[in-house]
Amino acid sequence: MKRILIRTRLLVPLSDSLGRETRIEDGYVLTEGVLIKEVGKFNPERIDKILNDSKFDLTVLGTKDGQINRSEEVPQINGVALPGFVKAHGHDHESPLIGMAKDVPLTTWLDEAVNHFTGFLHEEEKTLTERFGCSPYYLTYLKARIDDLQHGITTAVVHHCNFNKYHVPELVEANRVAKTKITIAVGSQDRHYDPRILDTPPEVAINRMDELYEKFKDESDVRIIPGPDQFFSNGPELLKQLKIWADDHQTMIHIHSSEEYATTQWFTKEYGMTPIAYADSIGFLDKNTFVGHQVQSSEEDIEILTKTKTSVVHNPLANTILGSGMPPLQKFKEKNIPFAISTDGSGSADNQNIINAARLAAQYQKAFHKDATMMTAQDVLERITIVPSQILNYNTGSLSNGLSADITVVDLSAPNLTPTRIDNVIENLIWAANGNEMKYVISNGEIVINDYQFVTIDINNVLKQIQELSELFYAYKQKKTATKATGIRDSE
Ligand SMILES: [Zn+2]
Repeated sequence: MKRILIRTRLLVPLSDSLGRETRIEDGYVLTEGVLIKEVGKFNPERIDKILNDSKFDLTVLGTKDGQINRSEEVPQINGVALPGFVKAHGHDHESPLIGMAKDVPLTTWLDEAVNHFTGFLHEEEKTLTERFGCSPYYLTYLKARIDDLQHGITTAVVHHCNFNKYHVPELVEANRVAKTKITIAVGSQDRHYDPRILDTPPEVAINRMDELYEKFKDESDVRIIPGPDQFFSNGPELLKQLKIWADDHQTMIHIHSSEEYATTQWFTKEYGMTPIAYADSIGFLDKNTFVGHQVQSSEEDIEILTKTKTSVVHNPLANTILGSGMPPLQKFKEKNIPFAISTDGSGSADNQNIINAARLAAQYQKAFHKDATMMTAQDVLERITIVPSQILNYNTGSLSNGLSADITVVDLSAPNLTPTRIDNVIENLIWAANGNEMKYVISNGEIVINDYQFVTIDINNVLKQIQELSELFYAYKQKKTATKATGIRDSE
Protein backbone atom coordinates (compact mmCIF):
# COMPACT_ATOMS: atom_id res chain seq x y z
CA MET A 1 0.00 0.00 0.00
CA LYS A 2 1.05 3.56 -0.73
CA ARG A 3 2.33 5.79 2.08
CA ILE A 4 3.46 9.43 2.02
CA LEU A 5 5.58 10.99 4.76
CA ILE A 6 5.52 14.78 5.12
CA ARG A 7 7.73 16.71 7.52
CA THR A 8 7.10 20.44 7.79
CA ARG A 9 8.48 23.24 9.94
CA LEU A 10 4.96 23.96 11.20
CA LEU A 11 1.76 21.93 11.30
CA VAL A 12 -1.77 23.12 12.03
CA PRO A 13 -4.09 20.10 12.42
CA LEU A 14 -7.36 22.02 13.08
CA SER A 15 -8.75 18.88 14.63
CA ASP A 16 -10.97 18.20 17.62
CA SER A 17 -8.74 15.30 18.70
CA LEU A 18 -5.50 17.32 18.87
CA GLY A 19 -7.24 20.60 19.76
CA ARG A 20 -8.51 23.11 17.24
CA GLU A 21 -5.94 25.73 18.23
CA THR A 22 -2.97 23.35 18.41
CA ARG A 23 0.11 24.41 16.42
CA ILE A 24 3.01 21.97 16.12
CA GLU A 25 6.64 22.87 15.44
CA ASP A 26 8.58 20.31 13.34
CA GLY A 27 5.55 18.16 12.62
CA TYR A 28 4.89 15.16 10.42
CA VAL A 29 1.95 13.52 8.73
CA LEU A 30 1.94 9.96 7.46
CA THR A 31 -0.69 8.88 4.97
CA GLU A 32 -1.61 5.29 4.16
CA GLY A 33 -3.77 4.64 1.12
CA VAL A 34 -6.47 7.31 1.06
CA LEU A 35 -6.35 8.02 4.81
CA ILE A 36 -4.16 9.81 7.33
CA LYS A 37 -2.35 7.25 9.48
CA GLU A 38 -0.46 9.49 11.92
CA VAL A 39 -0.02 13.16 12.80
CA GLY A 40 2.35 14.57 15.38
CA LYS A 41 5.69 16.04 16.32
CA PHE A 42 8.62 14.67 14.35
CA ASN A 43 10.06 11.83 16.40
CA PRO A 44 13.27 10.21 14.98
CA GLU A 45 12.65 6.80 16.56
CA ARG A 46 9.14 6.53 15.17
CA ILE A 47 10.22 7.90 11.78
CA ASP A 48 13.03 5.33 11.51
CA LYS A 49 10.45 2.60 12.08
CA ILE A 50 8.26 4.06 9.34
CA LEU A 51 11.23 4.28 6.93
CA ASN A 52 12.22 0.67 7.59
CA ASP A 53 8.77 -0.82 7.19
CA SER A 54 9.16 -2.60 3.88
CA LYS A 55 5.49 -3.60 3.68
CA PHE A 56 4.68 -0.17 2.29
CA ASP A 57 5.55 1.80 -0.82
CA LEU A 58 6.73 5.00 0.90
CA THR A 59 7.29 8.43 -0.69
CA VAL A 60 8.97 11.14 1.37
CA LEU A 61 7.69 14.53 0.29
CA GLY A 62 10.30 17.10 -0.73
CA THR A 63 12.91 14.56 -1.92
CA LYS A 64 14.02 14.04 -5.49
CA ASP A 65 13.05 10.40 -5.88
CA GLY A 66 10.96 10.16 -2.70
CA GLN A 67 13.35 7.64 -1.14
CA ILE A 68 15.11 8.13 2.22
CA ASN A 69 16.59 5.56 4.62
CA ARG A 70 17.22 7.39 7.91
CA SER A 71 15.15 9.86 9.91
CA GLU A 72 17.89 12.50 9.96
CA GLU A 73 17.76 12.59 6.15
CA VAL A 74 14.05 13.42 6.04
CA PRO A 75 13.88 16.98 4.74
CA GLN A 76 11.96 19.47 6.84
CA ILE A 77 9.91 21.47 4.33
CA ASN A 78 9.87 25.18 5.18
CA GLY A 79 6.11 25.23 5.14
CA VAL A 80 2.97 24.73 7.17
CA ALA A 81 0.90 21.58 6.71
CA LEU A 82 -2.86 22.11 6.88
CA PRO A 83 -5.93 20.08 5.96
CA GLY A 84 -7.03 20.56 2.34
CA PHE A 85 -9.68 23.28 2.20
CA VAL A 86 -13.38 22.47 1.89
CA LYS A 87 -15.38 24.71 -0.42
CA ALA A 88 -19.08 24.46 0.38
CA HIS A 89 -20.46 26.44 -2.57
CA GLY A 90 -19.09 26.97 -6.07
CA HIS A 91 -19.86 26.45 -9.75
CA ASP A 92 -17.32 24.67 -11.94
CA HIS A 93 -19.00 25.93 -15.11
CA GLU A 94 -17.99 29.52 -14.32
CA SER A 95 -14.27 28.94 -14.50
CA PRO A 96 -13.78 30.70 -17.91
CA LEU A 97 -16.00 33.64 -16.91
CA ILE A 98 -13.54 35.78 -14.98
CA GLY A 99 -13.87 39.47 -15.71
CA MET A 100 -17.12 39.15 -17.66
CA ALA A 101 -20.29 41.26 -17.18
CA LYS A 102 -18.91 43.25 -14.29
CA ASP A 103 -20.52 46.17 -12.46
CA VAL A 104 -24.02 44.75 -12.98
CA PRO A 105 -26.49 43.18 -10.52
CA LEU A 106 -27.08 39.46 -10.06
CA THR A 107 -29.90 38.80 -12.55
CA THR A 108 -28.22 40.79 -15.36
CA TRP A 109 -24.94 39.03 -14.61
CA LEU A 110 -26.68 35.62 -14.73
CA ASP A 111 -28.15 36.46 -18.13
CA GLU A 112 -25.13 38.16 -19.68
CA ALA A 113 -22.30 36.05 -18.33
CA VAL A 114 -23.35 32.69 -16.88
CA ASN A 115 -26.39 31.76 -18.93
CA HIS A 116 -25.00 33.32 -22.09
CA PHE A 117 -21.83 31.26 -21.78
CA THR A 118 -23.61 27.99 -21.02
CA GLY A 119 -26.02 28.76 -23.89
CA PHE A 120 -22.97 29.22 -26.15
CA LEU A 121 -21.57 25.83 -25.12
CA HIS A 122 -25.02 24.29 -25.66
CA GLU A 123 -25.42 25.71 -29.18
CA GLU A 124 -21.85 25.18 -30.32
CA GLU A 125 -21.18 21.91 -28.54
CA LYS A 126 -20.55 19.87 -31.68
CA THR A 127 -18.02 22.24 -33.30
CA LEU A 128 -16.29 22.91 -29.99
CA THR A 129 -15.97 19.18 -29.27
CA GLU A 130 -14.37 18.65 -32.68
CA ARG A 131 -12.00 21.54 -32.17
CA PHE A 132 -10.80 20.59 -28.69
CA GLY A 133 -11.00 16.83 -28.98
CA CYS A 134 -13.15 16.70 -25.86
CA SER A 135 -16.43 18.15 -24.63
CA PRO A 136 -16.17 21.91 -23.92
CA TYR A 137 -18.02 21.22 -20.68
CA TYR A 138 -15.37 18.74 -19.62
CA LEU A 139 -12.66 21.26 -20.50
CA THR A 140 -14.38 23.96 -18.44
CA TYR A 141 -14.83 21.64 -15.44
CA LEU A 142 -11.23 20.44 -15.60
CA LYS A 143 -10.06 24.06 -15.49
CA ALA A 144 -12.23 24.52 -12.39
CA ARG A 145 -10.55 21.54 -10.71
CA ILE A 146 -7.18 23.25 -11.43
CA ASP A 147 -8.49 26.49 -9.88
CA ASP A 148 -9.46 24.62 -6.71
CA LEU A 149 -6.22 22.72 -6.30
CA GLN A 150 -4.15 25.82 -6.98
CA HIS A 151 -5.70 27.32 -3.85
CA GLY A 152 -5.50 24.15 -1.76
CA ILE A 153 -9.17 23.11 -2.11
CA THR A 154 -9.48 19.34 -2.18
CA THR A 155 -13.22 18.98 -1.44
CA ALA A 156 -15.93 21.05 -3.12
CA VAL A 157 -19.66 21.42 -3.52
CA VAL A 158 -20.30 22.09 -7.19
CA HIS A 159 -23.72 23.66 -7.64
CA HIS A 160 -24.40 22.52 -11.19
CA CYS A 161 -26.96 25.08 -12.35
CA ASN A 162 -28.70 25.90 -15.66
CA PHE A 163 -27.55 23.88 -18.74
CA ASN A 164 -24.90 22.16 -16.66
CA LYS A 165 -27.48 19.87 -15.11
CA TYR A 166 -27.32 17.97 -18.41
CA HIS A 167 -23.55 17.55 -18.11
CA VAL A 168 -22.90 15.73 -14.86
CA PRO A 169 -20.85 12.88 -16.42
CA GLU A 170 -18.25 15.34 -17.76
CA LEU A 171 -17.89 16.80 -14.26
CA VAL A 172 -17.48 13.35 -12.73
CA GLU A 173 -14.75 12.64 -15.28
CA ALA A 174 -12.92 15.92 -14.51
CA ASN A 175 -13.05 15.03 -10.82
CA ARG A 176 -11.59 11.58 -11.49
CA VAL A 177 -8.62 13.16 -13.26
CA ALA A 178 -8.11 15.81 -10.55
CA LYS A 179 -8.43 13.26 -7.68
CA THR A 180 -10.57 15.69 -5.67
CA LYS A 181 -13.84 15.05 -3.83
CA ILE A 182 -17.04 16.71 -5.01
CA THR A 183 -20.66 16.93 -4.05
CA ILE A 184 -22.65 17.70 -7.19
CA ALA A 185 -25.78 19.67 -6.36
CA VAL A 186 -27.74 19.03 -9.56
CA GLY A 187 -29.67 22.11 -10.66
CA SER A 188 -33.34 22.43 -11.59
CA GLN A 189 -35.84 25.17 -12.40
CA ASP A 190 -39.39 25.42 -13.68
CA ARG A 191 -40.02 29.20 -13.86
CA HIS A 192 -38.47 32.66 -14.21
CA TYR A 193 -35.53 31.29 -16.18
CA ASP A 194 -34.27 30.52 -19.67
CA PRO A 195 -37.28 28.72 -21.24
CA ARG A 196 -35.02 26.18 -22.96
CA ILE A 197 -34.16 24.44 -19.69
CA LEU A 198 -37.37 24.45 -17.63
CA ASP A 199 -38.18 21.17 -15.87
CA THR A 200 -41.90 20.76 -16.41
CA PRO A 201 -43.55 18.75 -15.01
CA PRO A 202 -41.44 18.22 -11.81
CA GLU A 203 -40.97 14.55 -12.71
CA VAL A 204 -38.41 15.66 -15.31
CA ALA A 205 -36.11 16.86 -12.52
CA ILE A 206 -36.87 13.88 -10.27
CA ASN A 207 -36.13 11.40 -13.07
CA ARG A 208 -32.83 13.17 -13.70
CA MET A 209 -31.90 12.75 -10.03
CA ASP A 210 -32.80 9.03 -10.15
CA GLU A 211 -30.72 8.44 -13.27
CA LEU A 212 -27.67 10.29 -11.99
CA TYR A 213 -27.88 8.68 -8.58
CA GLU A 214 -28.03 5.23 -10.11
CA LYS A 215 -25.20 5.98 -12.53
CA PHE A 216 -22.75 7.35 -9.96
CA LYS A 217 -23.71 5.69 -6.69
CA ASP A 218 -20.50 3.64 -6.69
CA GLU A 219 -18.22 6.56 -7.59
CA SER A 220 -16.28 6.94 -4.32
CA ASP A 221 -15.42 10.64 -4.53
CA VAL A 222 -18.70 11.93 -5.93
CA ARG A 223 -21.97 12.60 -4.15
CA ILE A 224 -25.13 13.44 -6.08
CA ILE A 225 -27.64 15.69 -4.30
CA PRO A 226 -30.51 17.94 -5.44
CA GLY A 227 -29.48 21.55 -6.03
CA PRO A 228 -32.46 23.59 -7.29
CA ASP A 229 -30.93 26.83 -8.60
CA GLN A 230 -33.01 29.39 -6.69
CA PHE A 231 -36.23 29.65 -4.67
CA PHE A 232 -37.59 32.06 -7.28
CA SER A 233 -36.90 29.64 -10.15
CA ASN A 234 -38.35 26.46 -8.57
CA GLY A 235 -42.04 26.18 -7.76
CA PRO A 236 -43.30 24.68 -4.45
CA GLU A 237 -44.25 21.33 -5.95
CA LEU A 238 -40.81 20.84 -7.48
CA LEU A 239 -39.04 21.91 -4.27
CA LYS A 240 -41.17 19.57 -2.15
CA GLN A 241 -40.48 16.61 -4.42
CA LEU A 242 -36.74 17.31 -4.46
CA LYS A 243 -36.65 17.48 -0.66
CA ILE A 244 -38.52 14.17 -0.45
CA TRP A 245 -35.99 12.71 -2.90
CA ALA A 246 -33.11 13.94 -0.69
CA ASP A 247 -34.70 12.44 2.44
CA ASP A 248 -35.39 9.13 0.69
CA HIS A 249 -31.77 8.93 -0.49
CA GLN A 250 -30.37 10.33 2.80
CA THR A 251 -28.58 13.15 0.99
CA MET A 252 -28.28 16.84 1.67
CA ILE A 253 -30.02 19.48 -0.44
CA HIS A 254 -28.61 22.82 -1.55
CA ILE A 255 -30.01 26.05 -3.01
CA HIS A 256 -29.18 29.74 -3.46
CA SER A 257 -31.20 31.82 -1.02
CA SER A 258 -31.83 35.53 -0.40
CA GLU A 259 -28.72 36.62 -2.25
CA GLU A 260 -29.65 39.93 -3.79
CA TYR A 261 -31.85 42.67 -2.31
CA ALA A 262 -34.15 43.36 -5.29
CA THR A 263 -34.88 39.69 -6.03
CA THR A 264 -35.49 38.90 -2.36
CA GLN A 265 -37.85 41.91 -2.06
CA TRP A 266 -39.72 40.84 -5.17
CA PHE A 267 -40.03 37.27 -3.90
CA THR A 268 -41.27 38.43 -0.48
CA LYS A 269 -43.94 40.60 -2.10
CA GLU A 270 -44.98 37.90 -4.55
CA TYR A 271 -45.23 35.07 -2.00
CA GLY A 272 -46.16 37.16 1.03
CA MET A 273 -43.15 35.85 2.95
CA THR A 274 -39.36 35.73 2.75
CA PRO A 275 -37.67 32.90 0.84
CA ILE A 276 -36.68 31.26 4.15
CA ALA A 277 -40.19 31.54 5.67
CA TYR A 278 -41.54 30.10 2.44
CA ALA A 279 -38.97 27.27 2.41
CA ASP A 280 -39.93 26.43 5.99
CA SER A 281 -43.64 26.47 5.09
CA ILE A 282 -43.09 23.73 2.49
CA GLY A 283 -40.89 21.57 4.75
CA PHE A 284 -37.68 22.30 2.83
CA LEU A 285 -35.45 23.17 5.79
CA ASP A 286 -33.69 20.88 8.26
CA LYS A 287 -30.19 19.85 9.29
CA ASN A 288 -29.60 18.33 5.84
CA THR A 289 -30.31 21.62 4.05
CA PHE A 290 -27.57 24.13 3.40
CA VAL A 291 -28.27 27.40 1.62
CA GLY A 292 -25.86 29.58 -0.29
CA HIS A 293 -25.64 33.30 0.68
CA GLN A 294 -28.60 34.23 2.93
CA VAL A 295 -27.42 37.83 2.68
CA GLN A 296 -30.89 39.32 3.15
CA SER A 297 -31.92 37.79 6.48
CA SER A 298 -34.83 39.05 8.57
CA GLU A 299 -35.09 38.41 12.32
CA GLU A 300 -37.71 35.80 11.53
CA ASP A 301 -35.37 34.13 8.99
CA ILE A 302 -32.71 33.84 11.68
CA GLU A 303 -35.19 32.23 14.07
CA ILE A 304 -36.26 29.76 11.38
CA LEU A 305 -32.66 28.87 10.45
CA THR A 306 -31.92 28.26 14.14
CA LYS A 307 -35.04 26.20 14.75
CA THR A 308 -34.57 24.04 11.65
CA LYS A 309 -30.76 23.65 12.09
CA THR A 310 -30.22 24.79 8.50
CA SER A 311 -26.63 25.70 7.55
CA VAL A 312 -25.46 28.68 5.51
CA VAL A 313 -22.55 29.18 3.11
CA HIS A 314 -21.23 32.74 3.03
CA ASN A 315 -19.56 33.90 -0.21
CA PRO A 316 -18.05 37.33 0.49
CA LEU A 317 -16.23 37.76 -2.84
CA ALA A 318 -19.41 37.31 -4.89
CA ASN A 319 -21.58 39.23 -2.43
CA THR A 320 -19.38 42.31 -2.64
CA ILE A 321 -18.64 42.23 -6.39
CA LEU A 322 -22.34 41.84 -7.28
CA GLY A 323 -23.32 44.48 -4.73
CA SER A 324 -25.59 42.07 -2.88
CA GLY A 325 -24.55 43.12 0.63
CA MET A 326 -23.21 40.92 3.41
CA PRO A 327 -25.11 38.51 5.69
CA PRO A 328 -25.45 39.15 9.46
CA LEU A 329 -22.70 36.74 10.50
CA GLN A 330 -22.62 38.05 14.06
CA LYS A 331 -26.27 37.08 14.50
CA PHE A 332 -25.61 33.67 12.93
CA LYS A 333 -22.86 33.17 15.50
CA GLU A 334 -25.01 34.27 18.42
CA LYS A 335 -27.70 31.80 17.36
CA ASN A 336 -25.22 28.99 16.59
CA ILE A 337 -26.31 28.81 12.97
CA PRO A 338 -23.52 26.78 11.34
CA PHE A 339 -21.91 28.74 8.52
CA ALA A 340 -18.98 28.08 6.22
CA ILE A 341 -17.02 30.57 4.15
CA SER A 342 -16.68 29.86 0.45
CA THR A 343 -15.82 31.49 -2.86
CA ASP A 344 -18.89 30.91 -5.06
CA GLY A 345 -18.14 30.40 -8.78
CA SER A 346 -15.29 32.18 -10.54
CA GLY A 347 -17.78 34.11 -12.67
CA SER A 348 -18.86 36.23 -9.71
CA ALA A 349 -15.86 35.81 -7.38
CA ASP A 350 -13.32 35.91 -10.20
CA ASN A 351 -11.10 33.36 -8.50
CA GLN A 352 -11.21 30.39 -6.13
CA ASN A 353 -8.84 31.95 -3.62
CA ILE A 354 -10.56 30.67 -0.50
CA ILE A 355 -8.03 32.25 1.86
CA ASN A 356 -8.87 35.57 0.27
CA ALA A 357 -12.58 34.85 0.86
CA ALA A 358 -11.89 34.05 4.54
CA ARG A 359 -9.91 37.27 4.90
CA LEU A 360 -12.63 39.40 3.32
CA ALA A 361 -15.28 37.84 5.56
CA ALA A 362 -13.27 38.79 8.64
CA GLN A 363 -12.24 42.20 7.34
CA TYR A 364 -15.74 43.27 6.42
CA GLN A 365 -17.31 42.19 9.74
CA LYS A 366 -14.58 43.86 11.81
CA ALA A 367 -15.07 47.13 9.93
CA PHE A 368 -18.87 46.98 9.88
CA HIS A 369 -19.18 46.28 13.62
CA LYS A 370 -16.22 48.53 14.51
CA ASP A 371 -14.90 45.58 16.51
CA ALA A 372 -11.41 44.18 15.83
CA THR A 373 -12.07 41.14 18.05
CA MET A 374 -14.70 39.75 15.66
CA MET A 375 -14.00 36.84 13.30
CA THR A 376 -10.42 35.96 14.26
CA ALA A 377 -7.97 34.25 11.90
CA GLN A 378 -8.55 31.00 13.79
CA ASP A 379 -12.32 31.35 13.39
CA VAL A 380 -12.28 31.99 9.63
CA LEU A 381 -9.66 29.29 8.99
CA GLU A 382 -11.98 26.78 10.70
CA ARG A 383 -14.78 27.97 8.42
CA ILE A 384 -12.89 26.84 5.30
CA THR A 385 -11.81 23.50 6.81
CA ILE A 386 -13.40 21.69 9.76
CA VAL A 387 -16.69 23.65 9.81
CA PRO A 388 -17.76 22.96 6.19
CA SER A 389 -16.53 19.39 6.57
CA GLN A 390 -18.87 18.92 9.54
CA ILE A 391 -21.77 20.67 7.80
CA LEU A 392 -21.37 18.37 4.79
CA ASN A 393 -20.56 15.32 6.90
CA TYR A 394 -17.22 14.68 5.19
CA ASN A 395 -14.31 12.70 6.62
CA THR A 396 -11.91 15.61 5.97
CA GLY A 397 -11.18 19.20 7.07
CA SER A 398 -8.63 18.27 9.79
CA LEU A 399 -5.30 16.51 9.98
CA SER A 400 -6.25 13.62 12.20
CA ASN A 401 -5.74 9.85 12.24
CA GLY A 402 -8.30 8.04 10.15
CA LEU A 403 -9.48 11.09 8.20
CA SER A 404 -9.11 11.46 4.45
CA ALA A 405 -5.50 12.18 3.36
CA ASP A 406 -6.20 15.71 2.07
CA ILE A 407 -3.26 17.95 2.89
CA THR A 408 -2.00 21.33 1.75
CA VAL A 409 1.52 22.55 2.44
CA VAL A 410 1.80 26.34 2.29
CA ASP A 411 5.27 27.57 1.35
CA LEU A 412 6.67 29.69 4.19
CA SER A 413 9.72 30.75 2.20
CA ALA A 414 7.61 33.29 0.27
CA PRO A 415 8.70 36.88 1.09
CA ASN A 416 5.18 37.85 2.14
CA LEU A 417 5.12 34.95 4.63
CA THR A 418 8.50 35.74 6.16
CA PRO A 419 8.77 35.86 9.14
CA THR A 420 6.32 33.17 10.20
CA ARG A 421 6.65 31.55 13.62
CA ILE A 422 4.53 29.09 15.59
CA ASP A 423 2.77 31.96 17.37
CA ASN A 424 1.68 33.82 14.22
CA VAL A 425 1.27 31.08 11.62
CA ILE A 426 -2.54 31.07 11.59
CA GLU A 427 -2.68 34.87 11.57
CA ASN A 428 -0.20 34.97 8.66
CA LEU A 429 -2.22 32.42 6.69
CA ILE A 430 -5.24 34.71 6.77
CA TRP A 431 -3.66 38.17 6.79
CA ALA A 432 -0.34 37.81 4.92
CA ALA A 433 -0.75 34.90 2.50
CA ASN A 434 -1.66 35.50 -1.13
CA GLY A 435 -3.57 32.22 -1.12
CA ASN A 436 -1.57 30.56 -3.87
CA GLU A 437 1.56 29.53 -1.99
CA MET A 438 0.42 25.90 -2.09
CA LYS A 439 3.71 24.14 -2.77
CA TYR A 440 2.32 20.64 -2.23
CA VAL A 441 -1.24 19.37 -2.31
CA ILE A 442 -2.25 15.82 -1.46
CA SER A 443 -5.78 14.75 -2.24
CA ASN A 444 -7.23 11.35 -1.38
CA GLY A 445 -3.72 10.13 -0.57
CA GLU A 446 -2.24 11.17 -3.92
CA ILE A 447 0.25 13.94 -4.57
CA VAL A 448 -1.58 16.22 -7.02
CA ILE A 449 0.70 19.26 -6.73
CA ASN A 450 4.39 18.55 -6.21
CA ASP A 451 6.68 21.55 -5.76
CA TYR A 452 4.06 23.76 -7.48
CA GLN A 453 3.76 21.34 -10.45
CA PHE A 454 0.42 19.72 -11.27
CA VAL A 455 0.91 15.97 -11.37
CA THR A 456 -2.41 14.56 -12.58
CA ILE A 457 -3.52 17.29 -15.02
CA ASP A 458 -1.84 18.54 -18.20
CA ILE A 459 -2.24 22.13 -17.06
CA ASN A 460 -0.52 23.86 -20.01
CA ASN A 461 -2.82 22.21 -22.50
CA VAL A 462 -5.95 22.98 -20.45
CA LEU A 463 -5.01 26.64 -20.02
CA LYS A 464 -4.27 27.03 -23.73
CA GLN A 465 -7.61 25.52 -24.70
CA ILE A 466 -9.53 27.57 -22.12
CA GLN A 467 -7.98 30.74 -23.55
CA GLU A 468 -9.15 29.68 -27.01
CA LEU A 469 -12.62 28.85 -25.73
CA SER A 470 -12.85 32.27 -24.15
CA GLU A 471 -11.84 34.00 -27.42
CA LEU A 472 -14.54 32.03 -29.25
CA PHE A 473 -17.15 33.03 -26.68
CA TYR A 474 -16.13 36.66 -27.00
CA ALA A 475 -16.68 36.46 -30.77
CA TYR A 476 -20.07 34.77 -30.22
CA LYS A 477 -21.08 37.50 -27.78
CA GLN A 478 -20.50 40.16 -30.44
CA LYS A 479 -22.99 38.42 -32.72
CA LYS A 480 -25.63 37.21 -30.31
CA THR A 481 -27.24 39.09 -27.46
CA ALA A 482 -28.10 37.30 -24.23
CA THR A 483 -31.58 35.97 -23.47
CA LYS A 484 -33.16 38.16 -20.80
CA ALA A 485 -34.94 35.56 -18.79
CA THR A 486 -33.64 35.35 -15.24
CA GLY A 487 -35.51 36.42 -12.17
CA ILE A 488 -38.05 39.14 -11.84
CA ARG A 489 -38.24 40.72 -15.30
CA ASP A 490 -40.95 38.46 -16.68
CA SER A 491 -43.35 39.37 -13.91
CA GLU A 492 -42.61 43.07 -13.78
ZN1 LIG B 1 -23.59 30.50 -6.42
